[in-house]
Amino acid sequence: MNHDVIVLGAGLAGLAAARDLAAGGADVLVVEARDRVGGRVEQTALPDGRLVQLGGEVVGTAHTAYTDLVAELGLTLVPSYVAAPGLLARAIPEGVGAGDPPHWFGPGDEAAHRKVTAAFAALSATVDPDDPWAHPEAIALDRLSVAGWLRDQGASPAVVRLWEIGQLALADGSYERTSLLAALRKHAAVPGLGHYEYDAWEGLRVAEGSATVALRMAAGLDGRIRTGAPVVSLTVRGGGCSVGLAGGETLTADAVVSALPAGPFRSIAVTGVSEERLASLHRQRHALAAKFVAVYDRPFWHDLGLSGLSECEGVLGSTWPQNEAVLSALVPPERYAVLLGAPAPVRAAELLAEIARLYGDQARRPLAAYLRLWGTDPWTQGYVTHWVPGDVMAVGPRHGTHEPPFYVCGSDQWVAGYMEGAVRTGRAAAKEALRRG
Ligand SMILES: Cc1cc2nc3c(=O)[nH]c(=O)nc-3n(C[C@H](O)[C@H](O)[C@H](O)COP(=O)(O)OP(=O)(O)OC[C@H]3O[C@@H](n4cnc5c(N)ncnc54)[C@H](O)[C@@H]3O)c2cc1C
Repeated sequence: MNHDVIVLGAGLAGLAAARDLAAGGADVLVVEARDRVGGRVEQTALPDGRLVQLGGEVVGTAHTAYTDLVAELGLTLVPSYVAAPGLLARAIPEGVGAGDPPHWFGPGDEAAHRKVTAAFAALSATVDPDDPWAHPEAIALDRLSVAGWLRDQGASPAVVRLWEIGQLALADGSYERTSLLAALRKHAAVPGLGHYEYDAWEGLRVAEGSATVALRMAAGLDGRIRTGAPVVSLTVRGGGCSVGLAGGETLTADAVVSALPAGPFRSIAVTGVSEERLASLHRQRHALAAKFVAVYDRPFWHDLGLSGLSECEGVLGSTWPQNEAVLSALVPPERYAVLLGAPAPVRAAELLAEIARLYGDQARRPLAAYLRLWGTDPWTQGYVTHWVPGDVMAVGPRHGTHEPPFYVCGSDQWVAGYMEGAVRTGRAAAKEALRRG
């Protein structure tokens, strides 16, 4: 049976695209490799009914594509950990501190930090997030790393360290290996006073659970999703596209929407798409990260006046409270190999020891703990998009654009990954495919 559109991947992007295509009257089929929908949003329920998010979790007030979708689905947005009382903690090998300024700052560092933050915001205002390639200095800005630029601006090692620990916390790839142009583009998409405003990027969460957004979209697509169906090949032709599945079956459609992450997409044999577009898609890369979640009976970090948010230079790059007494944590790419090097049975205990350094010995005794190795998961092969110096220009202006009847969406097709990018590009791809009939 020939479909109007086949969507590859049932993450937020693929589901959002399929939902709009179906609403627009298209006969749509979603094919998904895993035996579940949601992709990088995934949740599990505790015996006491609390939901634990193992993947994407919070969004920002500026993430309007996502917040609009949440409203359409009848779900509820509530303030995230950003509104939680208490101080942010920072852990470095030399010691643990709380609040601002960071405990390693000396005279002049705070003023220098304010100066480079303002310079970054001003430079960011010159970048069009939809067309960073048009910037007159695009090549030079893309060649520079954020950390290199900070040093060029006269930032002291203490200031560079503050920016870097913030980046470790996001697990988004070190600022020593992040394109300045990519960072400016990200900031231009969601401007703020600081170089990463927690409220604008992470101030909200879905009360019913982040993964419920995917589950609710999937429920509305009943019968149009095939799980356990890895795509291995794709042929794109004006007269009809074909999608080959791992079992040897071939599906056909008038158009295809790829909503796959950069890594898994590279393994698919694609014909009929221009070499330039394929080269652009194949050039994208991810930061490899892991998520660790520890569930407690009470948020004991408040006893110390701390919020549960921390930025760390350990194997863990950060912690934050995702829900009542549930602590999330990320292992950034720079530490991912260290985590994998640890024998599996000791990993959780070693991560809990790092949390105990921040919040005390109670942290060693969670009710439950989960470690999700997204960086080496075959159907993600990463975590969020990473742009190393040179990547913005190498991926080029085809980023996030289509070659009908081949359409692309997914968080990698937005400025910086995130659930906002998945929903925004998924809906945009559906709109474009419907417009072209
Ligand atoms: C640990 C973690 C924490 C995060 N935290 C946040 C956060 O707090 N806020 C935020 O905004 N974002 C966060 N993100 C990022 C966010 O979750 C993702 O950017 C977003 O969910 C990606 O959606 P997507 O649909 O583009 O891709 P995915 O969710 O990766 O969906 C792609 C789908 O394609 C499927 N697939 C892959 N290969 C094939 C194949 N060959 N054939 C068929 N199907 C295939 C996959 O199984 C998957 O279901 C986080 C991500 C992770 C991993």
